[in-house]
Amino acid sequence: MKIASLPVPAPLIEYCEEKGITDLYPPQAACVDEGIFSGKSLLVAIPTASGKTLVAELAMHAQVANGGKCLYIVPLRALAGEKFREFSGKGVKVGISTGDLDRRDEFLGANDIIIATSEKVDSLLRNKTPWLRQVTLLVVDEVHLIASPDRGPTLEMVITKLRYRIPNLQVIALSATIGNPKKLADWLGAGLVTSEWRPVDLRQGVFYRGKIHFHQGEREVAEPSKTEDLNLCIDTIEEGGQCLVFVNSRRNAEGFAKRAAAAFKKRVKSPVLEEYAARILESATTDQEKVLAACIATGSAFHHAGLRREFRELIEEGFLKGEIRCISSTPTLAAGLNLPARRVIIRDLLRFSGAEGMAPIPVGEYHQMAGRAGRPHLDPYGEAVMIAKNEQSIEELFERYIDAPAEPVVSQCTRSGALCSHLLSLIATGFATDRKGLSKFLVQTFYGFTHASTKALDTIVNQSLKFLTETEMITEIGDLLQATEYGALVSRLYIDPLSAEAISGAMLEADGYSDRALLQVVCSTSDMPALYLKSKDLQYLEKFLYEHGDDLWQQVPWEDREQFYRSVKTAMLLSDYTDEVPEAIICERYDVGPGDLYAAVTNVTWLIHAAARLAAMFREDLAPAVRELEICTSQGIRRELLPLVRLKGIGRVRARRLFNNGITDPATLQEAGFDRITSILGSGVAKSLFSQFDEKETKERKDDLQGSSELVKKAQ
Ligand code: ADP
Repeated sequence: MKIASLPVPAPLIEYCEEKGITDLYPPQAACVDEGIFSGKSLLVAIPTASGKTLVAELAMHAQVANGGKCLYIVPLRALAGEKFREFSGKGVKVGISTGDLDRRDEFLGANDIIIATSEKVDSLLRNKTPWLRQVTLLVVDEVHLIASPDRGPTLEMVITKLRYRIPNLQVIALSATIGNPKKLADWLGAGLVTSEWRPVDLRQGVFYRGKIHFHQGEREVAEPSKTEDLNLCIDTIEEGGQCLVFVNSRRNAEGFAKRAAAAFKKRVKSPVLEEYAARILESATTDQEKVLAACIATGSAFHHAGLRREFRELIEEGFLKGEIRCISSTPTLAAGLNLPARRVIIRDLLRFSGAEGMAPIPVGEYHQMAGRAGRPHLDPYGEAVMIAKNEQSIEELFERYIDAPAEPVVSQCTRSGALCSHLLSLIATGFATDRKGLSKFLVQTFYGFTHASTKALDTIVNQSLKFLTETEMITEIGDLLQATEYGALVSRLYIDPLSAEAISGAMLEADGYSDRALLQVVCSTSDMPALYLKSKDLQYLEKFLYEHGDDLWQQVPWEDREQFYRSVKTAMLLSDYTDEVPEAIICERYDVGPGDLYAAVTNVTWLIHAAARLAAMFREDLAPAVRELEICTSQGIRRELLPLVRLKGIGRVRARRLFNNGITDPATLQEAGFDRITSILGSGVAKSLFSQFDEKETKERKDDLQGSSELVKKAQ
């Protein structure tokens, strides 16, 4: 099927042709036949790299040409950026919604395509963002994530709410790995396109003692090193390909990258790699980052959430350009990012999964990773390889993973704690005004669709409503369910009602205020992923509690102290951050990476923001201090720098430099004069600072003039 023959506007067709895309791939053509251009909903369950994104783009451009608006839901913030770049510059207006969770982002409504995570869409719904009603096409990327225990319920609720609110909404759901695609398609009222077709042949095999065993045939692998995983990797590099190695921990990812770097030293040389390494070294603050730079210089890299975002992006770019030859990664990289490689080695098939200890990875995840093998137009084939421990496990691995279908997608709505926040939002936003209304909504969810009996759901609804009534977040008078002012605020703030209760309860009872006390309470909630404990932590945690325990709002529990200690440890990390302890020291002290620190700071800032709003409702006397803490945590500064960071272009580093030079606020800064500020911060920054004062003065003068002319008018 020719792209040029499709009913989409010219810019997209021209863009495709420029990229050499003239014909649709067979599964894409099947989507056209199934009716994507006639507004029909579709579940597209086809392998990785078979062109799902273009299917979505075709449908979106056709909708926009007809005056429609599209919402594209991605699972990760990083993916939102990737999609934004991909969709821009093709004749449609694209917007990305990644801002604060209690904003309505009304300006985004001016766009034709809006990209957001499911959490952001949920918060937009809770804040009654007007443009959501104008959406005519909803694209859900990686729709199998409905089965994800922590994020699945939100995705399921968001899809249900949007379909409930917008009649005739076209839904295009995309996924590579689903065990029960028909069920999911039926729920969505959608047609189904499945296919095994791939643009590059994918060979899946098991490596054992120097040979990869495939369904058809075997392949010998040379043994230049003593380790099997490395031999598999070198084999691909020597052939001119690239390799992705999936392992089960960050430490293992780094370990493999170091071994690969040593092996690549004689094999890979490139000035571009040296430049990458130099770029990393320039801003590296931790030992881990210095190791990364050394690895990258030889074409090997590790990738995980602990790395800062710039470095992750640099690794991805270097790999896409073919410079970096091998990335060893935790499975996070398999979740969406478009980084194909000739050979994918799924090295670790067991992974630590909380209470269950080491457990085998799910089949769906194996397929996600394996699907990364083979770069279209660049590789003659793709290979996904597992490593067998003994001869008989070769067969077992074929059965368990290669020949097995992915697990069915199962709703996670009945998981403990998942529903309470959603029920509150349904009531607060008027989706349901009584229990009947709630039931009517809930039977529309995927859970309702797949369960004949809603008994389990009813029990959870009853328990949740009881909690919400007892905590005065909702009232039930006669049949009428209504959110109180408190409940409506909690829903808009996008925090778990349990977290809201913990925070407001602690504030209400507090005798005084301390940042540490609030941070610890916030870190004890389910909205804040707490750091894990290591045995060496206990000693300093106990010392800390001995010295500061009385400052805290929560008491040390008599039993089951682990959760409490974890919240204290996380609060200590954040206290260090607002105490301006250098990033490298924090990373070493708490055994985290800069990426983790950034994630914790972003998360806690949102919760402190919520705490400030709650304080304004319950403890007005505490609110100013909490608002200050919000700025301190977001910027990583002590309170004394607050007056300075209010100036545009002044962050934690510049503010500290000014402060240490005796300049403590805008007034002393102005008094010091341009030359002195230039000597501290350079002339560029000084110019921008003083122009802010000029602007302010002009504005004040204008306001004064306006004020006096109004007075004159009134007097006349
Ligand atoms: P998926 O989302 O299914 O994993 P993508 O949409 O990322 O796959 O597509 C993989 C690659 O294939 C992209 O580089 C895309 O530009 C390219 N592609 C998509 N459709 C076609 C086509 N019909 N012909 C040639 N290349 C295509």
